[in-house]
Amino acid sequence: MKIAVLGTGTVGRTIAGALAGLGHDVVIGTRDPEATLARTEPDAMGAAPFAQWLEEHGHVHLARYADVATDAELVINATSGAGSIAALSAAGAENLAGKILMDIANPLDFSHGMPPTLNPVNTDSLGEQIQRTFPDAKVVKTLNTMNASLMVDPGRAAGGDHSVFVSGNDSDAKREVTGLLKSLGHQDVIDLGDISTARGSEMLLPIWLRLWGALGTANFNFKIAR
Ligand code: NAP
Repeated sequence: MKIAVLGTGTVGRTIAGALAGLGHDVVIGTRDPEATLARTEPDAMGAAPFAQWLEEHGHVHLARYADVATDAELVINATSGAGSIAALSAAGAENLAGKILMDIANPLDFSHGMPPTLNPVNTDSLGEQIQRTFPDAKVVKTLNTMNASLMVDPGRAAGGDHSVFVSGNDSDAKREVTGLLKSLGHQDVIDLGDISTARGSEMLLPIWLRLWGALGTANFNFKIAR
């Protein structure tokens, strides 16, 4: 499948690398490819400069947001929550129309210091904002409740015995995303309902962040025991 991943951070790289490894045709979107490739310092999370990652993943291509979604069959949003609407607008509403838009972003607001708060929250969600802004896209919120490594290699924690959520208005789109999640090794995919249920998965972030601190590792996930 032709997949456009918006986002050059840890999530964009991890998901793009894994999907390309599964044989998909993957392109990564960024604001300014030249500027992204010119970075020489590790990012805020200590990840190597993007150019180094790209060199090691020769089968993935980099382009401007405006150019990546045109031919894509599936678009993945892995940009910062605060930049997601701008990134997707640059990708072009017309290029998102009728396509599945898998949204992994969280609306983390760092403007009040650490830990970040959520904006929007409780009575709205980033997933809904994206669906409202791009009404012709089929937004499916998923994977936002776990660390990037677990998104593509769930077996790294508890042998993969944990849960992932999907939220979205289009049942076929959720079915297709569920298939993609299973191809990445996810065993327990829970359909929460329409896109408004993204409020719930996004609101797991405050407890996720506190667990990260308490456990001293990001290699954990939620398991819905039943
Ligand atoms: P990030 O640092 O949150 O986001 C990096 C990406 O956001 C870059 O591609 C950057 O564009 C883009 N961006 C930032 N501001 C922008 C703006 N104003 N306009 C357009 N694009 C903008 O990277 P991340 O850690 O990989 O996280 C990506 C998303 O996944 C976030 O929403 C995060 O909350 C969520 N998430 C992360 C994890 C994790 O393990 N890190 C887990 C679950 C969910 P350039 O390429 O142009 O710099």
